[in-house]
Amino acid sequence: MSPDDLRQRIEYFKDLGVKELYRRESVASVAPAAESPVPVAAALPVTVELPSLAPVGDTLVQIGQDIGECTRCGLHKGRNKIVFGDGNPQAQLVFVGEGPGADEDTQGIPFVGRAGQLLTQMIEGTAKKEGIQLMRSDVYICNVVKCRPPENRTPEPQEMEICGQFLFRQLQVIRPKAICALGSTAAKALIGGKDGVTKLRGKWHKWHDIPLIVTYHPSYLLRAYNVEAKREAWEDLKKALHFVYD
Ligand code: URA
Repeated sequence: MSPDDLRQRIEYFKDLGVKELYRRESVASVAPAAESPVPVAAALPVTVELPSLAPVGDTLVQIGQDIGECTRCGLHKGRNKIVFGDGNPQAQLVFVGEGPGADEDTQGIPFVGRAGQLLTQMIEGTAKKEGIQLMRSDVYICNVVKCRPPENRTPEPQEMEICGQFLFRQLQVIRPKAICALGSTAAKALIGGKDGVTKLRGKWHKWHDIPLIVTYHPSYLLRAYNVEAKREAWEDLKKALHFVYD
């Protein structure tokens, strides 16, 4: 990577608020630029090989190719299929979950297990009730990490950082009218901070300049006792759907 590429990458991620990842890249041999916002000389040594961050004319196909047979983090060891994303590449609404579960890992498609069936029902059912013609295939659905974490554990920060760059590129290519972050992992990856879903949900935030709403993860809603959360999630979804499709 040339020094210019590196500086461009640092600027880009500084802008996204995740510059920490890119301090971990191969910068030891690069002289720090006077205007560089990051103390380049103090950066960590190489840990992963990453392709260009926001290639000109980026596409979902290109992102998929750049992911390739990814071995950038340990999650690849237990993976059957990379779960890239599903739906309309020109969607006006993108849902972002945490990471694939067992069914998704087998099929290579996000949100196809029990939580996925609930998400599909929520999207299509709420839209229908609100007089909005919308099928799951009209939106785009993806995850923060593209490989299944063992035992469905929460992805580690480093796994989120490494895989997050591909999520960011997906969002930049699609440029939806709004994003819906499902659960705290997606919320953390996209808006940062320490607040949990209960605090973040139902309000508008932003990822870059794209409005973003946070709601509960469908897996959480599957637990029988979360009745109030279910009602709130439906409210959040209604809000997102009217914002995007009215
Ligand atoms: N949970 C997620 O966060 N994503 C999936 O794709 C499935 C379950």
